[in-house]
Amino acid sequence: MVSGPQRMPEIADLPVPVISLFFYYQSWNTNGLVLISRGLACARRAGACPAQQGGAWFLPRLGFKGNAMITLFDRLDATPAFSPEEKAVIESVESLAREKIAPRAEHYDRTGEFPWDNLRAINALGLNAMFVPEAYGGAPLSYAAYLACVRALSEACASTGSIWATNFHAMSPLIDFGSEEQKRRLLPRLAEGALASLAITEPNAGSDATQMKTRFRPEGEEIVVSGGKIFITDGNVADLILLFGKWEGVADPREAISALILEKGTEGFRILRTEKKLGLNACPTAALAFDDCRVPRANLLAGPGKGLPLLLRALNKSRPSVAAHALGIARAAFKDAVAYINERRQSGRRIIEFQGIQFLLADLASELAKTEAMLWHVARLVDRGEADIGIEASILKLSASDLAMRMTTEAVQLFGGYGYIKDFRVERLMRDAKITQIWEGTNQIHRQLIGRSLIEKR
Ligand SMILES: Cc1cc2nc3c(=O)[nH]c(=O)nc-3n(C[C@H](O)[C@H](O)[C@H](O)COP(=O)(O)OP(=O)(O)OC[C@H]3O[C@@H](n4cnc5c(N)ncnc54)[C@H](O)[C@@H]3O)c2cc1C
Repeated sequence: MVSGPQRMPEIADLPVPVISLFFYYQSWNTNGLVLISRGLACARRAGACPAQQGGAWFLPRLGFKGNAMITLFDRLDATPAFSPEEKAVIESVESLAREKIAPRAEHYDRTGEFPWDNLRAINALGLNAMFVPEAYGGAPLSYAAYLACVRALSEACASTGSIWATNFHAMSPLIDFGSEEQKRRLLPRLAEGALASLAITEPNAGSDATQMKTRFRPEGEEIVVSGGKIFITDGNVADLILLFGKWEGVADPREAISALILEKGTEGFRILRTEKKLGLNACPTAALAFDDCRVPRANLLAGPGKGLPLLLRALNKSRPSVAAHALGIARAAFKDAVAYINERRQSGRRIIEFQGIQFLLADLASELAKTEAMLWHVARLVDRGEADIGIEASILKLSASDLAMRMTTEAVQLFGGYGYIKDFRVERLMRDAKITQIWEGTNQIHRQLIGRSLIEKR
């Protein structure tokens, strides 16, 4: 049996700090520039996508040289009939993701700092405006274009993708169900780049939201909010929070669920803590307290009997978005793994030449292609105004998140020992992928919803 390396290690075999040292040393060499470019080419060839580069070398296209995969994924990406304006926006987002966001992803993952410079760059492009109607300061594009942007941002930095997408998840119910006055007052702020959060989960109300305890007590022209929420994405930085609670005095737990918009700075609103997490380290997750917060009645979005239907409708739009986020992560892992095993050699062959590995790649590529096709199918349904798409949204969310987890785990495996160390981004991708199976309905809940839909009514 072969044990140990078959050749002297090349630069591409070396961890990134060693590669950096190599570049540093070579830059003092008389042939410095030539050697630097050779070293870089070698590392690139090996798909040695360092965490510090965040995979920027491979964004946005799948980037395989001269094989059918390019055609396949490019054709899939051409499924939605994007307008020239949409194409221009998507290209701007892809280049922002490639040039600015991906290179900073490792830093934000390591430090857990909120990526304000990424958000400033996103707002400089005016991206929130793409989901706000024109009458309220927006410049609306299709839902498919929105999903393409979520996917591109998430491929570069899953934390940043999630922060931006949360604005949409939280505020699409205001766009769809808010009163004229509410939209005129609040949506221009969103279009200009306000951050938003969606607050449903409580310590004893996770998969079963009807168990929530946060209370809404009407008092004249105000609603007094008391209670707390946990696990709220961006809850510590949000300007606007779409908050779910139960209307006092309504006995039926489903009927009691109501929703209002709580604005930053409301007296009695406290941030209790932000969580330390496995992944998505730069996307904050906050525990929030509401100590008799007085919210103007004008901010009530859905009173008793209307909150739960609003929530379920909103999920039909946020779940495909969560799928686009997961697909961004899955794409990044797929690219890195394929590039790496095209170069990495063991037992006298490139890893990709082993048939067992080809079978694995075939399965992963097929799953990716099928799930991306499903993404555009659901996007088309939303864009043509179909409301009853709960099962499609569940199938998409389930498939994309399971794929992201599998893809990233296999990518770490295909990198061998290098996959387990932090010099390459695949380990971050694997940590970032896990949440996609948990939030927006755990995958068990989605399996339950899909399975239940097949029961014949008798
Ligand atoms: C990083 C992060 C960010 C989040 N962001 C937000 C946010 O912005 N806003 C928000 O409101 N929430 C957010 N959440 C909460 C998230 O949506 C919940 O964690 C999720 O819905 C699961 O609820 P739970 O954690 O209470 O788990 P539980 O509901 O207690 O579930 C525990 C386990 O039991 C399983 N289970 C539960 N019920 C069933 C069932 N009927 N059948 C089979 N299995 C079942 C679950 O699948 C899971 O495996 C976030 C969570 C995290 C970790």
